[in-house]
Amino acid sequence: MLWADRIASEIRDTRTPRDGKTFLIRDEKTISGRVHVGSMRGVAIHGLVAEMLAEQGVANEFRFEIGDFDPFDSIPNYLDVGKFREHLGKPLCAVPSPEPGFANYAEYFGTEFIEVHKKAGFSPNYYRATELYRSGKMDSLIKTALERASDVRKILKEVSGSEKDWSWLPVSVVCEKCGKMMTTRAYDFDGETVGYTCDKHPDDAVSCGHAGRTAPWKGTAKLFWKVDWAAKWVAQGVDIEGGGKDHSTKGGSRDVANHIARKVFNYEPPFDIPYEFFLVGGKKMSSSKGRGSSAKDMCDLFPPQVFRLALIGKDIREQIDVDPAGESVPRLYDWYDELGTGVREGKADDYSRLYTLCEPPKNRAGLTAPWQMRFREVAFIVQMPHLELHKEAGKAKGAELTEDEIQRLEERARYAKFWLATYAPEEFKYELQEETPEVELSQVQKKALTVLADYLQTGERTGEELHLRLHELKTEIPIQPKELFHAIYRIFLNRDSGPKAGWFLAGLPRDFVITRLNEAVQ
Ligand SMILES: [Zn+2]
Repeated sequence: MLWADRIASEIRDTRTPRDGKTFLIRDEKTISGRVHVGSMRGVAIHGLVAEMLAEQGVANEFRFEIGDFDPFDSIPNYLDVGKFREHLGKPLCAVPSPEPGFANYAEYFGTEFIEVHKKAGFSPNYYRATELYRSGKMDSLIKTALERASDVRKILKEVSGSEKDWSWLPVSVVCEKCGKMMTTRAYDFDGETVGYTCDKHPDDAVSCGHAGRTAPWKGTAKLFWKVDWAAKWVAQGVDIEGGGKDHSTKGGSRDVANHIARKVFNYEPPFDIPYEFFLVGGKKMSSSKGRGSSAKDMCDLFPPQVFRLALIGKDIREQIDVDPAGESVPRLYDWYDELGTGVREGKADDYSRLYTLCEPPKNRAGLTAPWQMRFREVAFIVQMPHLELHKEAGKAKGAELTEDEIQRLEERARYAKFWLATYAPEEFKYELQEETPEVELSQVQKKALTVLADYLQTGERTGEELHLRLHELKTEIPIQPKELFHAIYRIFLNRDSGPKAGWFLAGLPRDFVITRLNEAVQ
């Protein structure tokens, strides 16, 4: 059973919606810059569980928070430090957008992130953290948290080992004078207002030195993260909310939020779905600094179905690892094709189920799996000016392509070209050499190439035939396979490795191959 089916069934069998009707599923992301692809795993997990529940006839809503009410605490390396330094410490909603046309910083990067959700076929109901705070729905919870600040401090100490001094309050006030929240420190709650000073110096954020009192309601202040997390569950009646591995350790933020929910707000925490990381090239989130690691960069590499497979294909307890500059890109396409093959063969197992789930719900009924040419073959052919993709695909399939298959082929060719132009490693880049490259060949290699040229002189050969002939040459000459293939790749591609040689040679004009073989042995 796939993880999403398993989790949906467990929820259906063990829980009832808090409001008696509809399960509320929630996820969030603080938009502190370009969003790392790792955050897509949460979107996909919550989104797919919502879909599975709906499929089982269980009413639910998936709500996603665009976190725009946290401080802008560091300037990403792709932005101009000079332009953004003065905004450090302000809430993200008060930092200007890097590009015109967006209300603020969080909207700019949030919009890019939402576009990725859409492409992957997920469409939660969105809201902004500022909307929730400004609506006043958090006010009674802020009040409780402030009144019970000593309990909050106790939980922080006992659960996570984090010690706060006796005057510490779990809110961060937005300074009325300079508009920053990272520079303020709140103390002394009198039931209606808190005192605060704007004199903290975290990192680069400059404080204004203001001191005053403010009523911390309706978006003038924000609860600190772990308290905020618990309060948001209560404010909205959240039933289901998972979290990444980094939050899910004992004493971690989820553990703390659970304690606060139970002990401070008297609320049973939502059903948890702890999940593993989405690594990029074997590395954990580096806050989206690395090229190719953002949700947008990663989703640009794949058609929707394959991107969705990357996100949902592995169990939540397993790590996902995709390296845009590595073999994991063609391997992901291969995985998708394997699932498709199973569907065409009429299998009804977890793999065919997974293939279906790579489509959004509206496309699932009567889904077929069109034949597809392997991504690495497409990537090779699009680099060979003399090869016609449709014709080669027809040969590989052994039959004419259907409309649907042609469409998929063209789509795949676009993605292959994009990958080759951006991240693809050298071993996937081929350039057919117009002139014979300067190559030192051994006598044995020359002998093998001569025999191969003679063989081609006798008539047109298929890839299969050439493949078999090359294998015969190994014992006939005799020659080591490595030596033989090096010679072939060197004289045609000026490199040591390449695609399957028999089919590669069969795809080239016969006269061209014979001339090249003869030139090379001279
Ligand atoms: Zn200030």
